[in-house]
Amino acid sequence: MRRNLFSFLLMVQVICFIVYPLLGWGFNAHKIINREAVNLLPGILGAYFSHHIDYISSHAIDPDLWRDDPKKYPNEMPGHYIDADLYDDYPFENIPKTFVGLVNKYGEEKINRWGLAPWRIERYFRMLVNQMRSGQWEEVPLTAAALGHYISDIHMPLHVVENYNGQLSGNFGIHKRWESDMVDKYLLDRINPNGELITVDNSVEEMFKIVKESYRYHLRLLSADSVARESIPLKEQAKIADRDASMEGTSYIEILFRETGDLANQRMETATVTVASFWYSAWIEAGKPRPPEMVIGE
Ligand SMILES: [Zn+2]
Repeated sequence: MRRNLFSFLLMVQVICFIVYPLLGWGFNAHKIINREAVNLLPGILGAYFSHHIDYISSHAIDPDLWRDDPKKYPNEMPGHYIDADLYDDYPFENIPKTFVGLVNKYGEEKINRWGLAPWRIERYFRMLVNQMRSGQWEEVPLTAAALGHYISDIHMPLHVVENYNGQLSGNFGIHKRWESDMVDKYLLDRINPNGELITVDNSVEEMFKIVKESYRYHLRLLSADSVARESIPLKEQAKIADRDASMEGTSYIEILFRETGDLANQRMETATVTVASFWYSAWIEAGKPRPPEMVIGE
């Protein structure tokens, strides 16, 4: 009987692992990060983005919708993460920063499994520069919204490691509990980003600074999960990996927040400043073109 129960639980874990989608902040967090990033932009670019703020915020989740439709978007998944610790040991100095160098070193099959977020970000950054430079302003809000999504994803510490859902360390299910359940419950009204926008010279190099930062935090999340998990009854613990099960009525989410709420807040605020910095730098690199609403308004 006990053996049957054990095999059943093992089977459930395996099935959950296969079908468990990688999120990268919940939908609400993505929308808030893009919205707050618009509010950080100065001058005429800020005015243009503010004009489109609802679109840029609501479409912050589009890349996750693309990822969930692999027939239509077959190459979407690896753009949302990088398992940096599969490529190299921390601090990841041996990972080539050019895409050609990366393909030559690891081959296409591996890089598509291990994730390509920094290069997806580079591609969208270049697209944004080109669209602004050539006056294709009707394309800008969606490109900016998606760029904001990819940049935010790798601020989430579990988006830069192989053990992205605690599956290798007895923390299975932590990913969604931390980025959606905890954030939705405690953090949506709380983020208050401030800090200078930076100028992006090399987008991949800039993203690797974030990858390193995120990596340094991932063990804190896993430890917080262990503490929170052990504080609740065994039968409640089994629900953590079931993304549809609610943890209400247990102290799990509350303890996760007590242990790492400050970190989640910091990662979301940092993501907001980085997203605004990339948008603004794209505009500078495009030669500071005047957005269309500004022309119409004159
Ligand atoms: Zn994502």
